[in-house]
Amino acid sequence: MTIRTRFAPSPTGLLHIGGARTALFNFLAARHHGGSFLLRIEDTDKARSTKQAVDVILDGLAWLGLTPDEPPVFQSTREARHAEVAHQLLAEGRAYKCYCTPEDLTAMREAAQAAGKPPRYNGYWRDRDPALAPPGVKPAIRLKVQSNGQTTITDLVQGEVTVADSELDDMIILRSDGTPTYLHAVVVDDHDMGITHVIRGDDHLTNTFRQIQIFKACGWDLPKFAHIPLIHGADGAKLSKRHGAVSILEFREQGFLPEALCNYLLRLGWGHGDEEFLPRDKQIELFDLDGVGRAASRMDYAKLTHLNGQWLRAADDARLAADVAARLPAQCGLTPDETAQNRILRLMPGLKERAKTLADLTASAAFLARTVPLPFEPKAEALLTPPARAMLAKLAPHLAATDFTAATIDATLRAFAESEGLKLGQVAQPLRAALTGSTTSPGIDATLEALGKEESLKRIQTV
Ligand code: GLU
Repeated sequence: MTIRTRFAPSPTGLLHIGGARTALFNFLAARHHGGSFLLRIEDTDKARSTKQAVDVILDGLAWLGLTPDEPPVFQSTREARHAEVAHQLLAEGRAYKCYCTPEDLTAMREAAQAAGKPPRYNGYWRDRDPALAPPGVKPAIRLKVQSNGQTTITDLVQGEVTVADSELDDMIILRSDGTPTYLHAVVVDDHDMGITHVIRGDDHLTNTFRQIQIFKACGWDLPKFAHIPLIHGADGAKLSKRHGAVSILEFREQGFLPEALCNYLLRLGWGHGDEEFLPRDKQIELFDLDGVGRAASRMDYAKLTHLNGQWLRAADDARLAADVAARLPAQCGLTPDETAQNRILRLMPGLKERAKTLADLTASAAFLARTVPLPFEPKAEALLTPPARAMLAKLAPHLAATDFTAATIDATLRAFAESEGLKLGQVAQPLRAALTGSTTSPGIDATLEALGKEESLKRIQTV
């Protein structure tokens, strides 16, 4: 069997990391078995679905490298098919028309509650003659729920789960206005899309038992189910804004790499020994739903940041330089020209060693895109004492005489420090302050080399 999975977000809110992890698990399960990963936008709730949320889903998935294998299916375009299946069930006697008004249903619920029973539909129209229907009431279509006592599923994550059929009432599949209910639309779409594995958040576990009733009434094979635990904040509470970033695009803005976020989300709640750093091909090779834990996972931003640092160090320099160039205008108000971009690329091996996020990386690379006079951090300013300035003025012609490669710069600085009776740091620190406006940068020789002779001398002479 070729497996087909789907991610089925409702575009009613922004794609959050819980959704991203569900998408990732669906993607990896499909890829691991050489199957297909599909996307279905569940936009039947027209009042709450927005185009912006759809764009964030598409954009977020593309950013995470979780592009579906087929064009996305928009659930709202399939309403005629949902209605067709409901009418088919009606024709086969597996569903019936219910003429209860909202007031009838409220009264039914209240009566059940007063009798100490759960507030469910009591099957009023199940066996009643439709000829008794009140005039002018448009009926809804309800499924005749079949009772075998109980239903058990073997969930690929949760194991065996059993629910008594008495927990289920005859649910509406098609509302009186002809629109499908959510539970019904999902089943029809999963069937028509050939979904073999439904992998979703465990908040949907109870829906599964209702959906199974619809699958069975239609005579369709059941997919396999895997309900994955939700992600909580470090304090165990439902993840929310106060824990930190939640929306996927916020992580992007904060300078996380998509590879790092996916790697983190995978490791959160899925184990493979002690291996932390897992590139996508390794993830695909190793991922199995068996390895997904049942307990809710806790989001650990510090761990994610640490992992992001590892991914930054492993990332391609040209790609990081392009990311930094793209962030500089908004983050630092700088527009790097080609020269600045080349400098950033050259110094990238040193810059990325020290950064945890693209935001850090951009801040540390900003000096390469500035022109004199540089802004100075107070600590850097403090290093530029009159004697230090005099020392730099004396150093400048020595540097000017080199071919300005890291090796000759290093040798020149050492020789100069020695001839002045100074330690290398006593030369390098004021020099760094003059070149960068700060007290930290990659090695001073690499920093000088990346800036180039002309710009370095200009900066030294301007302090
Ligand atoms: N649309 C549902 C949600 O966003 C998911 C439904 C499903 O995966 O079956 O929570």
